[in-house]
Amino acid sequence: MRKIGVLTSGGDSPGMNAAIRAVVRKAIYHDVEVFGIYNGYQGLIDGNIQQMDIGSVGDIIQRGGTILYTARSDEFRTEEGREKAIQQLNKFGIEGLIVIGGDGSFRGAEKLTQKGYPCIGVPGTIDNDIPGTDFTIGFDTALNTVIEAIDKIRDTATSHERTYVVEVMGRHAGDIALWAGLADGAESILIPEHADEFEDVIERLKRGKDRGKKHSIIVLAEGVGSGMEFGQRIKDATKLETRVTVLGHTQRGGSPTASDRVLASRLGAKAVDLLLAGQAGRVVGIQNNKLVDHDILEILDEKHVVDFEMYQLSKQLSI
Ligand code: ADP
Repeated sequence: MRKIGVLTSGGDSPGMNAAIRAVVRKAIYHDVEVFGIYNGYQGLIDGNIQQMDIGSVGDIIQRGGTILYTARSDEFRTEEGREKAIQQLNKFGIEGLIVIGGDGSFRGAEKLTQKGYPCIGVPGTIDNDIPGTDFTIGFDTALNTVIEAIDKIRDTATSHERTYVVEVMGRHAGDIALWAGLADGAESILIPEHADEFEDVIERLKRGKDRGKKHSIIVLAEGVGSGMEFGQRIKDATKLETRVTVLGHTQRGGSPTASDRVLASRLGAKAVDLLLAGQAGRVVGIQNNKLVDHDILEILDEKHVVDFEMYQLSKQLSI
């Protein structure tokens, strides 16, 4: 394989740049030409493609977002759209592709692999919802953004003796909420995997109120529902003064943490190794601090599971 491409697709996450840098430099190290595809699969269809050199990825390891931009492409979901994408791959002589993104992006990668254009997926999403890896690129940074915000909210919650519902991202996964809740000593955590525990949250708040506790933090994963709605329900049920903060897209930005930069560098380089070794349709990951790779179809079939022990621990520590 002499020419490969790299793109970022779907939701962005801090550390994607570090992954792009690793892909480009590792490929060049092995005398392979690398092409950056801008705006995800839509850019591939449109031929928005440029050759990358060592300098083109300089000074980006510390930057959030993605220098290749990202997009969602409905056209790529169609057979005709993918044919156009393949024409561009042929035009540039790109033989294999590294796709940095989430599960949606991996579905696209699987389709290209089936057509004879080997793809390797690199899990880049703040949600930590990709099976086959303990961590996804961007999760640690998002988590740190969340705990910094909650620390600040706790100061004012304590001063004013209020209950705060903090809505965090994570799509259908509760990882950000669970880890942030544990790291912040939140009084309660509500995650989609255990969404039926709302009554338990109310009971805990009431017990706390009876003990004279006047401030609480409840971390709510967006997959459970809207913070505003839950804030109102909590207020109605407990009569506690309740405020809601929706952290929103601040969680997607910022300079990646050291952990995310290292993870992105390792996973990006591993993806190049696989492609050059003739592998196709794999997703790289990290499990017990060892680099691993799995069949892309297995990853798409599996469901991400939240750590139940950690969930129980968070409850035990927040009585
Ligand atoms: P993420 O990768 O973050 O999960 P999306 O689910 O939005 O993000 O997927 C990103 C892009 O991947 C989509 O806009 C689309 O172009 C492509 N994609 C997703 N699912 C498919 C599919 N089933 N077939 C082909 N392409 C897909």
